[in-house]
Amino acid sequence: MLQIKDISKQYKTGDFVQKALDHVSLTLRDNEFVAILGPSGSGKTTLLNIIGGLDRYDDGDLVINGTSTSKYKDRDWDSYRNHTVGFVFQSYNLIPHQTILSNVELALTISGVSRKSRRQRAVEALKKVGLGEHINKKPNQLSGGQMQRVAIARALVNDPSIVLADEPTGALDSETSVQIMDLLKEVAQDRLVVMVTHNPELAHQYANRIVELKDGVIRGDSRPVEAEETGDEKPAVHRTMGKASMSFATAVALSFNNLKSKKARTILTSFAGSIGIIGIALILSVSTGVNRYIADIQKETLTSYPIEINEQTFDMNKIMDTAQASADARKNDSGKHRTGIYPDDSSIKGASSMTSGITTNNLSPFKKFLDKPGNDVCKYVGDVGIQYSYAPKFSVFTHDSKDTLVDVDGVKVGGPQGMQSAASTIAGLNSSSGDISSLQSKQMAMLTGKTDANKAPDAFAEIMPGEHADKQPISSVIRDNYRMVKGHWPKASDQVVLVLDKNNQMPLTQVYELGLLPAADYNDMMNRLNSGEKVKTDTKRIDYSKAMNQSLTLLPAADQYVKGSDGRYKYVGNDADQIGKLMDSGSAVKLKVVGVIRADANAKTTPLAPGIGYTRMLTNQLIDHAKSSEIVAAQQADRTHNILNGMTFAPSDDATKAANAKAYVASLPVSDQANMAKTLMTQAPGGMGAASANQSADVTKQRAAAAAAAGNAAVASNPQEAIAGMGEQQVAQAFSNYLATAPENVLVSIYNQYVSTGTYSGNLADFGVIGRDAPSSIKIYADSFDAKNDIEDAIKRYNDGAKKKDRIVYTDYAGLMMNSVTTIINVITYVLIAFVAVSLVVSSIMIGIITYISVLERTKEIGILRAMGASKHNVSTVFNAETGIIGLCAGVIGIVVTLILIVPGNAVMHHFMGTDQVNAALPLTGAIVLIVLSVVLTLIGGLIPSRKAAKQDPATALRTE
Ligand code: ADP
Ligand code: MG
Repeated sequence: MLQIKDISKQYKTGDFVQKALDHVSLTLRDNEFVAILGPSGSGKTTLLNIIGGLDRYDDGDLVINGTSTSKYKDRDWDSYRNHTVGFVFQSYNLIPHQTILSNVELALTISGVSRKSRRQRAVEALKKVGLGEHINKKPNQLSGGQMQRVAIARALVNDPSIVLADEPTGALDSETSVQIMDLLKEVAQDRLVVMVTHNPELAHQYANRIVELKDGVIRGDSRPVEAEETGDEKPAVHRTMGKASMSFATAVALSFNNLKSKKARTILTSFAGSIGIIGIALILSVSTGVNRYIADIQKETLTSYPIEINEQTFDMNKIMDTAQASADARKNDSGKHRTGIYPDDSSIKGASSMTSGITTNNLSPFKKFLDKPGNDVCKYVGDVGIQYSYAPKFSVFTHDSKDTLVDVDGVKVGGPQGMQSAASTIAGLNSSSGDISSLQSKQMAMLTGKTDANKAPDAFAEIMPGEHADKQPISSVIRDNYRMVKGHWPKASDQVVLVLDKNNQMPLTQVYELGLLPAADYNDMMNRLNSGEKVKTDTKRIDYSKAMNQSLTLLPAADQYVKGSDGRYKYVGNDADQIGKLMDSGSAVKLKVVGVIRADANAKTTPLAPGIGYTRMLTNQLIDHAKSSEIVAAQQADRTHNILNGMTFAPSDDATKAANAKAYVASLPVSDQANMAKTLMTQAPGGMGAASANQSADVTKQRAAAAAAAGNAAVASNPQEAIAGMGEQQVAQAFSNYLATAPENVLVSIYNQYVSTGTYSGNLADFGVIGRDAPSSIKIYADSFDAKNDIEDAIKRYNDGAKKKDRIVYTDYAGLMMNSVTTIINVITYVLIAFVAVSLVVSSIMIGIITYISVLERTKEIGILRAMGASKHNVSTVFNAETGIIGLCAGVIGIVVTLILIVPGNAVMHHFMGTDQVNAALPLTGAIVLIVLSVVLTLIGGLIPSRKAAKQDPATALRTE
């Protein structure tokens, strides 16, 4: 029994209120065929929708089998429609993209009936309405009557107790109408059928009760329910219905079918949605390519120019800052308002900053800090790691083809001094391209005026070892950037390789220095060069084997001192005879050139300049050797006296200074002694000498002394003449005679002017003593500028925590060169990010619009689904599934299209950039993230439309055409 109790329903459109139902009361029997007749607009559909739970009543109550619906929740209504009611509409309302069978299955689908029984029941229902053969057709392949029969089958498939038909024959011809009416009459045999019609003939012919409606009021009822029929009317109780359920898989299948039926549209929609994804993916690919390129460049740059900490260093930053500051000052000062003379101190300041910029780093505490596991720096260090270099001191000698003894650091042993320096200057200029730090040490030497006779030859460089030097004598950086053209890498300390540049070349000077061409030719060449003549150069090809057969003999610095009869040690590095002897002694290391390497044509960094590369193994051997050498032991035995000249180190009292002065003069060769005597005599106030005004008094005394020494008081007025007539030997003899009895202050002044006692540690350093904890330079390699900046910060923190004397000054060539580049790179990156953001927004808005259109388009379908008992949640799930599928398609299409576009894109990029180093590439994770992003964004974009779809009033949705 279905009781409509005093139900009213109004529609408000703006200010206008339409009473669709006005206090309607009607009781329907469980089993009858009721026809509701009435003119258009009388409220028939409204009444039917209210009975079917599609529309809500404003007032009154609908009592179903004694259950009041006044407190029904949405899910109760959903369940009611799904289980109890079947709808048949005038316009059939079949879902066009589903087959007949699926349309009929729909109600069962929503209630979660299993696939098998669903199919069976749907086929049965279709057979019952005479459409057993058409189950796989789509609705538009059927006639109107057939479609209405499908609709009836659909209404019946759930075996509802109420079937509601709204003008089921309204769109059919009379013949078909009769067939449909017959069917409905049959249906009505065991249930309640309520049919709305405007055809009184059919109503009277088929229905067994006719209710007439006009202006929302019941005007007539042919067979009203009598009071006794209802029995004792009990007050209506409220009971909730079960819930109609639809699984997620069903929702996906439903959407998938819908999308499948609109393949072209779906593909177009997905493609439209994919444009945003393509944009992002392309930007991602290009920026990945560019970033990889930048990372490569950064790594290359930083491999060539690591953070460098040298024992002695320029504070480059300070120098740059000073230069910048004076440039700024000049810019700011405007000369317009000046009326006097203003000294411009910029060049003096610059020079001052150059000299004061030289600092000495105490590297051993810093090394200790770096060696501590988990220190601040280590986490930012790149693949190459931290390299410590030690400057072992040694010389290398060889013989040229004419058996001339050649010093690898200056060609001919004992050759004219000028030539040596010319050679090393040229060599220096040549090698400057290779190694920044060797260049720096040369600049340092120029500035400080200090040269180090014992340092290793310029042509010799240590090959960067691997991170674990003992296990990998050659770093992968070297192996990757140099090609072995002959022989093999060194495997022992006495094995070295010859290094050539990309063109197989090495500086001519070095070819001579290695004894590969005759030293005599070199000296000839240098003489011509010095006298301004045209120079002949020999650039003929030399066999690899010639270099590999060249015998190179290394003499450690400590071994180049020979103990004399006076117990003092004498440096013999310039003495060809002595060197010849030493070369045959046990401490000489016969080096073997075991390979020839060449900078690779595509080398990204070439830390080795042309010349000879030796291994850390040799360095270690030399360090050990120096420590245990005789001269070092001798110097360590007496820490107060210089074993080279017998002087006391850095004396403070005049007596020792005077003694040192005597010892110094005595240690000089005869010719130097004579020269010194002459120089002392020529020095006069205002003279050309180096004597400054405050020295002049002393110098006058010295001049007198020298004259006296000549033993002729008469010529004292013109001592220069007197001396000019004497031989060197005589002058020297007279000079030492004089010094033996000279007053202390004269000796002290000689001491001050000429003598350097050296220092204990300086001597040890000259002999090649190196502490393992005190490298001469530390190079820290980072892989990226960011990591480098982090390392710099870590060093700053180290400095903040260190004692003042332990603070270190590092050189960051890469930073000095590349700072502006990184800024540009950052700007580009931000621009790309902005693009990506815009693309994201655009694509999600677009997806939203597309989904919204889909919702509008499928309003009817939503109504049908709701009429079948789908809940709001089900409807939104269907739409979300659909947007999800579109998002997935869009994502996949976007990625595929991007991958295709990257190929010509790279070609174009290479063409315009002129480099094939930048390669756009879509990273796998990026691709996956983008697909997920596409799905998520589409879902978000579709969320509002799908909510709107879910909120659609089913009655209104169904009225939509
Ligand atoms: P019938 O089916 O008898 O032709 P309806 O029940 O469809 O009549 O409509 C009854 C009245 O309510 C009509 O005047 C119609 O204009 C009005 N009406 C129906 N649905 C709406 C609606 N959603 N909004 C406003 N007015 C409506
Ligand atoms: Mg109607």
